[in-house]
Amino acid sequence: MGTPRIGVAALGGTIAMTSETGRGVTPTLDAQDLVAAVPRLEEVAEITATTVVTRPSASVTSADLAAVVDWAGERVDGGAVGVVVTQGTDSIEETAYWLDLHWDRPEPLVVTGAMRSPATPGADGPANLLAAALTATSTVARDRGVLVVMNDEVHAAAEVLKGRSSHPDAFVSRPFGPLGFLEEERLHLRAPGRRHRSLPTAKGATPPSVALLQTHVDDTGEVLDMLVGAGHRGVVIAGFGVGHVPQRMVGSVQRALDAGMLVVVATRAGDGPTHEASYGYAGSEVDLLARGVIQAGWLHPRKARVLLAELLRQDADADLVAEEFARRGSAG
Ligand code: ASP
Repeated sequence: MGTPRIGVAALGGTIAMTSETGRGVTPTLDAQDLVAAVPRLEEVAEITATTVVTRPSASVTSADLAAVVDWAGERVDGGAVGVVVTQGTDSIEETAYWLDLHWDRPEPLVVTGAMRSPATPGADGPANLLAAALTATSTVARDRGVLVVMNDEVHAAAEVLKGRSSHPDAFVSRPFGPLGFLEEERLHLRAPGRRHRSLPTAKGATPPSVALLQTHVDDTGEVLDMLVGAGHRGVVIAGFGVGHVPQRMVGSVQRALDAGMLVVVATRAGDGPTHEASYGYAGSEVDLLARGVIQAGWLHPRKARVLLAELLRQDADADLVAEEFARRGSAG
């Protein structure tokens, strides 16, 4: 057997950043540069390197991601056994989930980046890119949807979060942990979870405006009221505990629903699911569900926002959105 083929697409991020002026790093390196910096990568795979965009994390758009899905499909049609996407780490938890919602191939699509820029001692970009390439070429990684590989850990796109703002071990999958690890350049993954139907990318369509709001003590619903009638088609509320809002906010939730907005409640706890039948007071999950609010389940508020926006982009109605959240927000 010859060396497997993979595609590597670069979107920018710290992995591609250098300091041209001495005033902090900015994205400058392209996909070829990144590939060239990894010792022995050519022994792992024959690589086609493509620069899609060169942006910092926070500026990657869903239009960029739609271009990545097209590029990845073309690479796989051309014989690649998998693909790797390099990008800024700050937004990976959202972008990888977006890609996961739209990637319908069995070939692994692996997202990676770096916490330390290339000129920093101990730069982690080359090791992460090598680990991502090993994952992309592994048959064990097939049919797992989109994976995030950082620090020799493999995470499911639907679960991974950036758990701290710095350090190479920034990525976590709470509460179940990573899907697996690389050891001695071999991939070890736990048993596969379910894969969900992928959503069409709806190219060219402007992403619907879906807000993400975190509630807090003394929240009167004023901010939510400001969203109503401001062109938002939906809102995700990062709620208390298992999916609650303060009693004083319930009127605003109702006004948003009456105005035709879809309202999803997730938990701001950072870990764990929303509930359906535990608490019965005004603002509880039982109260909100009875009003037509949708529960995010195990999905982190930021993933829930990505999912709601993508479903609304497909013109999904409230019933379909509720169904999709019930399915994709479940743990098993
Ligand atoms: N911390 C970010 C990164 O990992 C920087 C950025 O992309 O804006 O790449």
